[in-house]
Amino acid sequence: MPRPQERNARAEDRVFNAILDAVLDHRLAPGTKLKERELAEIFGASRGAVRGALTRLGHSLLVELRPNRGAVIANPSSAETPDLFEARRVIESALMQRLARNITAKQIAELRAFVAEEQRAYDRGDRKAGQRLSIRFHKLVSEFAGNAALDRFMEHLICRTPLLALARTGRIAYCGAADHREVVEALAKRDAAAAVRRMTEHLANVERQLVREDQPEMPQTLAAVFSA
Ligand SMILES: [Zn+2]
Repeated sequence: MPRPQERNARAEDRVFNAILDAVLDHRLAPGTKLKERELAEIFGASRGAVRGALTRLGHSLLVELRPNRGAVIANPSSAETPDLFEARRVIESALMQRLARNITAKQIAELRAFVAEEQRAYDRGDRKAGQRLSIRFHKLVSEFAGNAALDRFMEHLICRTPLLALARTGRIAYCGAADHREVVEALAKRDAAAAVRRMTEHLANVERQLVREDQPEMPQTLAAVFSA
């Protein structure tokens, strides 16, 4: 039997990942209230575990924690978009330069396999799985670059991007496998300039998509979101 502390940590991870996935999968709208007691019931977790998960989500700015008024899914203004993408271009360019110097054959193989899996998800029409992999692609690249400080910034920016997309268009920006493949092949050639160029173009493509679509209806009750 796990000790109560371990059990609590596992429950906290479960709640954290469920909320993160629900945002990335477009099931939780920006501005949705996250009621501690209701979440504890839905997940069969203690309120302490839920509070821990919400605090962590607050650190990555996915959730806004308001004193005495509880937590809501962050609802950033679309005015934040150009700043966020500028920050991503700066950091992801630095990651490309670093990776083009240091990438190992094993990492190249892993990135190629990852992009192939991403492509298969889109090919079979599983857009949600594809999008989840697309978001993870950027995190994986960041981890491989091996700079912990840059990686923490990236985690924040990666969490914030789909919220902006949702707040603005009701859809997560499509971040296709084709662009990612070009980034990986530039890295495989250890061509830093090409890798930076490919990544910069890719981020511009994603940013452009944030202005195209209208806001659809999204379910609002937590029970409806998490019972799916
Ligand atoms: Zn991407």
